[in-house]
Amino acid sequence: MSILVAPKALENTTVREFRMLIDGQWVEGEGGRVLERVAPSHGVTVSRYAQASAGDTERAIAAARRAFDDGPWSRTTGAERSNMLLKAADLIADRLDEIAYLDAIEAGKPISQVKGEIGGAIDIWRYAAALARDLHGESYNTLGEGTLGVVLREAIGVVSIITPWNFPFLIVAQKLPFALAAGCTTVVKPSELTSGSTLVLGEILQEAGIPAGVVNIIVGTGPEVGNIMATHPHVDMVSFTGSTGVGKLTMANAAQTLKKVSLELGGKNPQIVFPDANLDNFIDAAVFGAYFNAGECCNAGSRLILHKDIAADVVRRIAALSENVRIGDPLDPMTQIGAIITPQHLRKIEGYVSGAAGAGANVAFGGKALDFGAGQYMAPTILDGVTAGMAVAREEVFGPVLSVLTFETREEAIAIANSIDYGLSAGVWSRDFDTCLTIGRKVRAGTIWMNTFMDGASELPFGGFKQSGLGRELGRHAVEDYTETKTLNMHIGARTGWWMPR
Ligand code: NAD
Repeated sequence: MSILVAPKALENTTVREFRMLIDGQWVEGEGGRVLERVAPSHGVTVSRYAQASAGDTERAIAAARRAFDDGPWSRTTGAERSNMLLKAADLIADRLDEIAYLDAIEAGKPISQVKGEIGGAIDIWRYAAALARDLHGESYNTLGEGTLGVVLREAIGVVSIITPWNFPFLIVAQKLPFALAAGCTTVVKPSELTSGSTLVLGEILQEAGIPAGVVNIIVGTGPEVGNIMATHPHVDMVSFTGSTGVGKLTMANAAQTLKKVSLELGGKNPQIVFPDANLDNFIDAAVFGAYFNAGECCNAGSRLILHKDIAADVVRRIAALSENVRIGDPLDPMTQIGAIITPQHLRKIEGYVSGAAGAGANVAFGGKALDFGAGQYMAPTILDGVTAGMAVAREEVFGPVLSVLTFETREEAIAIANSIDYGLSAGVWSRDFDTCLTIGRKVRAGTIWMNTFMDGASELPFGGFKQSGLGRELGRHAVEDYTETKTLNMHIGARTGWWMPR
């Protein structure tokens, strides 16, 4: 059993009330509807958000459209936009504790971890600010004496940004600052389960000087609000992070008006381990990769593919280290695994574990929900003897559940890694350069970690192959994703009419 950290009673029992940001105004939802968020760690209501209706969503899109077509934002210089993004980054840093508390209490995430995520988000806002000044097109002076070609990068227009609950403040940072750097205007819909920190971001962006209508933030459910954001003819692009199922639906909806779509979706990420690996390093990375964010992470290293000669020893060592992991109260600074997002999701995770056990896997560690009297928690779990066909080896469990598979040859390991529909990330562990590079080239995933796992940087593109997504976030091309290309084809000198003899 891991170390249990029983949740302490909340010091602050006031329910925080939020309104929505539409056209620079903080407003209630039409008809006064609200959504309540119950803390997954404590089982009590902690936030109440004004809920957007279809009409509110239309108003937010109209505000973004006006701000783009008529407002000053797309006429600002890159330097002006950059300065506002830098100011936003500073203001986020000033309110770090408040934002961290909101993500911890609404999502059940460990507070120390969230502070790290917000630090990462600040870095991304600063990185996007740097790119805002460097966005440029191309020129062609090689087309002959009579022609000059200039390729412009223009802001694409109104962008719908839809985000999930598992990294509320970090994921909006992977989208919004780049859209703003390009000169776009936006309608942002955070997950209805974890909207608080994104609404605080709205206050910050107003203070940073972002004009009214440029960032509109509405709270609502996917079928009601997200659906309009993906279909509305006045939206030019949808940037979505969430499940593969809703991603496909969003793409189909956006296709009705041929919007550009960027999708960051699910993952079932393998870590392939060879006998010559530094196993001390790997064991730590395996525990981190599986249990970080309670496994509610698109990048979770939830599928270990171990060489059969080391498998038994590795499983024993991972189980031993799992006993040192601290699970429970997300507000305790020492906690490493917090709560599970909803009771329904906990039941889904338990279903995967019992399904795997029924199909012949062995529960080598954990395997059960933990009862702290309130909230919902899942014990860190290791499933040994998993085979590639089992649901737990192919589907996203999105809980602290590690599936262990084995291989004998490098080719077999690659085949197992590539045998599923996802292709977000993968890890390879070996001291052999050849092995690492071969796996790096043959495994079909957007990120391959070599002798490390789940590292990242604002400079490094992130996204998935296959059904893990479409497009890349971060990296130096991230701002370009929010642009259209326009060609200026210019003629110099006398024209030769097409009917005239040459
Ligand atoms: P989800 O797909 O249920 O919801 C994501 C967002 O889409 C939410 O804001 C939701 O309200 C909205 N939505 C729901 N139905 C919609 C619809 N019909 N039209 C438009 N929007 C709709 O996902 P989730 O449960 O919030 O998040 C978990 C999923 O996100 C996991 O699959 C995870 O792998 C994925 N994820 C991917 C990445 C990545 O970068 N690849 C990062 C984080 C999470």
